[in-house]
Amino acid sequence: MSETAETHSTVARFRVAEGQLVIGDVRVLQLADRVGSTPFFAYDRQLITDRVEEVRAALPEAVRLSYAVKANPMPAVVHHLAGLVDHLDVASGGELQVALDTGLAPEAVSFAGPGKIDTELTQAIAAGSIIEVESASESHRVVAIGERLGIRPRIAIRVNPDFAVRGSGMRMGGGPQQFGVDAERVPALMDGLATCEIDLLGFHVFAGSQNLHADILIEAQRKTAELILDLAEAAPQPVRYVNLGGGFGIPYTAKDQPLDLASIGAALNEVLEQRLLPGLTEAMFVIELGRYLVGEAGVYVSRIVDIKESRGRRYLVIDGGMHHQLAASGNLGTPIRKNYPLVIADRMEPEATVEATVVGNLCTPLDLMGDRVRVAHAAVGDLVGIFQAGAYGLTASPTRFLGHPPPVEVLVGTTQRPPHP
Ligand SMILES: *Cc1c(COP(=O)(O)O)cnc(C)c1O
Repeated sequence: MSETAETHSTVARFRVAEGQLVIGDVRVLQLADRVGSTPFFAYDRQLITDRVEEVRAALPEAVRLSYAVKANPMPAVVHHLAGLVDHLDVASGGELQVALDTGLAPEAVSFAGPGKIDTELTQAIAAGSIIEVESASESHRVVAIGERLGIRPRIAIRVNPDFAVRGSGMRMGGGPQQFGVDAERVPALMDGLATCEIDLLGFHVFAGSQNLHADILIEAQRKTAELILDLAEAAPQPVRYVNLGGGFGIPYTAKDQPLDLASIGAALNEVLEQRLLPGLTEAMFVIELGRYLVGEAGVYVSRIVDIKESRGRRYLVIDGGMHHQLAASGNLGTPIRKNYPLVIADRMEPEATVEATVVGNLCTPLDLMGDRVRVAHAAVGDLVGIFQAGAYGLTASPTRFLGHPPPVEVLVGTTQRPPHP
């Protein structure tokens, strides 16, 4: 409990000015006035840009970068990323619309996810986007819709690998899965599709999310490469598209070590040079990242509305909570609740720390945003900044719970165009 959030590597990405947290070059008090209400989610435009540049610098040039929109589907964020990455990966018809609105070529949008309904498949086929089919029956629906529309659907088969990736916060491959076609069934599926009016571009393997272990991710990439090389031999057409997944994690707690991006990039380069590029000469290779590109760029800012002591514990009660930022309460798929880094954003003074428990304004003990954390001495009216709010924040939270108004989202920071004289 002795560490303060200020020592966390994510928090260190943000500047402090006049004792205030700075988001997108705006001090937090001014930002709160500008937004007009609390709580709000603020995403730092430059931090997103910086992160994409870091990833580009570390990954081999031959690898294209895709943004997984479901991590943060705010249109302004998706639009900003569309200008920085090569592809967008969507998981619903709604996300597909947001992706197409950015002006990115529809062929650079891929659509994954179980349970796509016919309307969504129709949208994607009409757009000319890549459908990553999750089952044999879904592929048959795609064929039928393509025939009806008179358009050859562009598909990739999402493969449920015959290996699991350890150390992922969420496992989405290996064993029985709702995601993808089991690897051993893929050759038969491709035989069945060989005479259909579709363009079978290649494969997609995404085995898990939120992994901080470079060695495990490297091993997964190697195994994925071998699996795809095997499947390519059974493919009716040359493989032109290989989505290698991602799963790069971010450090939520002070104990988490940031991902060793350089090692992953070096190993991926080796796999490409030695195996994938020689084996699949017509293919493009894609890595898809959601959380890693946006997660650390977001802060959930709320206001302290009450402070109370109860039997030796000091409670800071904020005007938001788990209905906006479920993940920070520990209720979004984490087996053990851990504190996200949290600061009194208008009192960034690391010396003056006290222990406090930060809770939201919902009538449930689950609404715990910081359990006995060390923060600056705070008063009612001060702003609390909770980090790691850029991915799976508002979009993954039960906003209707208790009927409070929804928070505002802002993307902060100017583009680098010089201002008008
Ligand atoms: C959710 C998802 C992602 C993004 O995962 P992150 O952990 O946010 O990087 C990528 N690909 C697929 C298929 C997904 O379902």
